[in-house]
Amino acid sequence: MSKILTGIGASAGIAIAKAFRLEEPNLHVDKKEVADKEAEVQRFEAAISQSTTELQKIRDHAKEELGADKADIFEAHLLVLSDPELLTPVKEKITQEGANAEFAMKETADMFVTMFESMDNEYMRERAADIRDVTKRVIANLLDVEIPNPSMIAEEVIIVAEDLTPSDTAQLNRQFVKGFTTNIGGRTSHSAIMARSMEIPAVVGTKTAMAEIENGTLVILDGKDGKVLVNPEPAVVKDYEEKKAAHEAYKAELAKFVDVPTVSADGRQVELAANIGTPEDVNGVLENGGEGIGLYRTEFLYMGRDQLPTEEEQFTAYKTVLERMEGKPVVVRTLDIGGDKELPYLDLPKEMNPFLGFRAIRLCLEMQDMFRTQLRALLRASTFGNLKVMFPMIATLEEFRQAKAMLLEEKTKLEQEGTAVSDAIEVGMMVEIPSSAVMADVFAKEVDFFSIGTNDLIQYTMAADRMNERVSYLYQPYNPAILRLIKMVIDAAHKEGKWAGMCGEMAGSEVAIPILLGLGLDEFSMSASSILPARSAILHLSQKEISEFNEQILRMDTAEEVEAFVRNKFLKK
Ligand code: PEP
Ligand code: MG
Repeated sequence: MSKILTGIGASAGIAIAKAFRLEEPNLHVDKKEVADKEAEVQRFEAAISQSTTELQKIRDHAKEELGADKADIFEAHLLVLSDPELLTPVKEKITQEGANAEFAMKETADMFVTMFESMDNEYMRERAADIRDVTKRVIANLLDVEIPNPSMIAEEVIIVAEDLTPSDTAQLNRQFVKGFTTNIGGRTSHSAIMARSMEIPAVVGTKTAMAEIENGTLVILDGKDGKVLVNPEPAVVKDYEEKKAAHEAYKAELAKFVDVPTVSADGRQVELAANIGTPEDVNGVLENGGEGIGLYRTEFLYMGRDQLPTEEEQFTAYKTVLERMEGKPVVVRTLDIGGDKELPYLDLPKEMNPFLGFRAIRLCLEMQDMFRTQLRALLRASTFGNLKVMFPMIATLEEFRQAKAMLLEEKTKLEQEGTAVSDAIEVGMMVEIPSSAVMADVFAKEVDFFSIGTNDLIQYTMAADRMNERVSYLYQPYNPAILRLIKMVIDAAHKEGKWAGMCGEMAGSEVAIPILLGLGLDEFSMSASSILPARSAILHLSQKEISEFNEQILRMDTAEEVEAFVRNKFLKK
């Protein structure tokens, strides 16, 4: 039977493929007594050997698809699988106590994990994480339960999951994963943002996708309208194939704007930049005619691995991006971990409200070694292009001053060591906490630029978790409350002769673009796939004409009223 699920259209486009369910397997283990201990040891050894073969395959595949550094983690897992310190006690439990293999493995592994996790030593804590992962695989093999592995997918699929973490998303194989749908999540959760930069359709927050879609079922994703069609009739498939072709033709048509400067109909030039998460994302930026990078989310360099990246690794990544952008501006944001972006290996305590917690600059100002390593890598890379450094989640002026002081201290140290550092690095901040928007006039005296992070600014202003689909109606970029804050930030920057950009998802939205142009925004930074539609829109808009309506728009009562007005006045074809 065919069904239609509705969710939040998180990344436009249409995908038609079979469903691949990504779910945590049930690995519940009961204690049993075995009669034939020898046979049980053999069953255990067979599971170890099967797990070894699987991990070798995954390692080789990861090396090919994602690079040697991403494969290292599986190398570490293989070491655990061959470690007699772990395996011998398991076998002893089987032979001496008559325990079943699953139980013996779990008990032994739990003992090591607890021991290693309690040590005040980062290396040992990482080993605990390795043991946990490997144990899962061995137990799954003993129970004959499959562990879904998205990095091994080798046919076209649509991923169906309860949720995807940003690091799950980063590991999706772009060749075969044609789209994804999740039960939870909002338009600005990071997996949704990544789908846009990977240019794959996504529908999030469907609430029921996992209950309604079985493995292998044919699924159509409509990432613009937020629809998931399960098991559609052949006529519907045909209809969507046509829509898909039309969407692709529209994208091809936009290619004519790749090398065109972004100048409005009345001659105001703005910068259309892109948001990236990895150096590889620069390909999409160049293909789509990005005039710079307005947000490099460096936290992805820290994710999907089991230890911090070294200064050298970071230096190479930053240098690559700067060189490939050939002197165009590159705004690199320092580590913004926390919220929905976790680093398990830092072993931070779980928090009640992670989006309001110990994250981003708050964490960096405390974990100074980690922060200074990043700052040094950035400073060393600065001579290879046009680097601008940006601090995330600034709530107070003291935080900005402290972060900037550390940057300058590291600069002085490097220069004393004889390392060249650019003297032209601009230092700015994200405006994503209402306190900093309200105080923008004060901040503007000390920063070189602002970049408005509306994903967080909206969630904090409306007090609505950006990950929670139940409150997603409060993600209201056109709410006059948000527009007034944005105006304050832009005006404050201009008053001090500074520039103001926006790197939240709002910057690429059809309705926001005319409003932001009218308010005088200087730089718009968005997913690479939104650049060409944005440019084609700006070329037809007149900044002067729109700005005459600024006051009227800011005085409107509701987001709905603003949207209707903008669509009617500026977007009618
Ligand atoms: C934002 O908050 O708007 C932003 C761009 O940062 P992130 O989405 O990474 O929180
Ligand atoms: Mg943010």
